[in-house]
Amino acid sequence: MLKKILIANRGEIAVRIARACAEMGITSVAVYAEADRYALHVKKADEAYSLGPDTVAGYLNVHRLVNLAVATGCDGLHPGYGFLSENPELAEACARRGIRFIGPDAEVIRRMGDKTEARKAMQAAGIPITPGSVGNLAGLDEALELAAEVGYPVMLKATSGGGGRGIRRCDDADALRRNYERVISEASKAFGSAEVFLEKYIASPRHIEVQILADNQGNTIHLFERDCSIQRRHQKLIEIAPSPQLSDAQREYIGELAVRAARQVNYLNAGTVEFLMDADENFYFMEMNTRLQVEHPVTEAITGVDIVKEQIRIASGLKLRYTQDEIQRRGFAIEFRINAEDPKNDFLPSFGRISRYFATGGPGVRTDGAIYTGYEIPPYYDSMCAKLIVWALEWDEVLDRAERALQDIGVYGIRTTIPYHLEILRSAEFQSGKFNTSFVEHHPELVNYSVKRSNRDVAAAIGAALAAHMGW
Ligand code: ADP
Ligand code: ADP
Ligand code: MG
Repeated sequence: MLKKILIANRGEIAVRIARACAEMGITSVAVYAEADRYALHVKKADEAYSLGPDTVAGYLNVHRLVNLAVATGCDGLHPGYGFLSENPELAEACARRGIRFIGPDAEVIRRMGDKTEARKAMQAAGIPITPGSVGNLAGLDEALELAAEVGYPVMLKATSGGGGRGIRRCDDADALRRNYERVISEASKAFGSAEVFLEKYIASPRHIEVQILADNQGNTIHLFERDCSIQRRHQKLIEIAPSPQLSDAQREYIGELAVRAARQVNYLNAGTVEFLMDADENFYFMEMNTRLQVEHPVTEAITGVDIVKEQIRIASGLKLRYTQDEIQRRGFAIEFRINAEDPKNDFLPSFGRISRYFATGGPGVRTDGAIYTGYEIPPYYDSMCAKLIVWALEWDEVLDRAERALQDIGVYGIRTTIPYHLEILRSAEFQSGKFNTSFVEHHPELVNYSVKRSNRDVAAAIGAALAAHMGW
């Protein structure tokens, strides 16, 4: 078993990994930019080392991180999600320096990180893919030709894209002409690659993804699916396991497809195979994420498997602790991403000091977060600062419990997505368990909730009224 792990990340996921290490008797090493000096992951790990004054560069510096792992006597490195988690160079550098990278091999990361390569690999395994490009697009003419062939609307996508960026829907040839250069420029800026490809837009799309685990002894299993259809601008907002939209037969079918997909590329460690389900309930492979996913806790809640521990065991060369038959699912789990954003103000980031934080709890409630009273959320990073995960045996019960937990939790001093989540949760469409990825776009009224004003807001309002009255 690995003995000491460097966590090459920050925020809630670094805390999550440190917790797994603590339970396994593994020493954890945190890294932090100076802006993160008071971040929770620094306090939760056994050791912590500064990466210097740069806010982001340190977390993206492969050599520095691997050197630090070696210098501090680590034998493993966990990349979390985001940052370098899908960068094959980190996996390679670890391998060169004798550090176990907790994830798949560099070659698989590289291959699946290229979405057109991934499509080719899946097609070769007989897995249905969305109709569209075989390789990257050579130019606008090819894009127009292909779009005419598969039919509009189409999705134009960055080949190396992620995090919902570098994706644009084009409803007709004009839109494709307009967006073509734009996506290329976005892709070059965000991902350092100008390659793009095109897919048919799947009608009434439901995002269904399957969690898989594979050890280095030939065992590959799936841990059922998650429904991530509640998205805003192609970014997940709420995730559910299992999908309330699938029958058991469909569940079994995509579970098998995902295992086949993983086997096709000799996948190792934890990964996720993402599919879209169309209006006629056909499934299409969309992409594979070669890392731990933000929403992994909902799968943990319904299966009882600790995915991070399993990742560490696999990286240590151990055999999976479960066979497929031993993976049972129970109940429903929903995860709400608590982002430091103002839903009423076009979800603009709302960073700053958390004046008060009240935790929620009770049966079936878990929070994975990086916030505490007095913590100042730095403006340099992702706005997601906590996740609320709620589990119950029945769908109706998980809805009630989630409502209770969302009312229970208190994050003051900044704006968050909590009140917006409550509105979504209370909507008849969400409660019916049937929704697609257009849900957020089709329900603009859900941001019209009333906010209970904080003392500070009230004080400011009184001050303003007084000033007006007195003619100051
Ligand atoms: P998940 O599929 O696990 O929900 P997300 O798409 O929400 O993952 O991404 C998780 C985090 O990683 C987000 O902060 C996102 O911005 C970031 N991220 C994901 N993929 C990339 C990428 N290719 N490049 C840069 N950041 C990424
Ligand atoms: P990322 O790497 O950023 O996660 P994905 O390829 O997984 O990008 O797509 C992100 C989201 O965009 C999906 O969850 C889905 O909502 C939407 N999407 C992507 N491709 C299509 C498509 N062909 N048809 C309809 N929606 C799509
Ligand atoms: Mg995706």
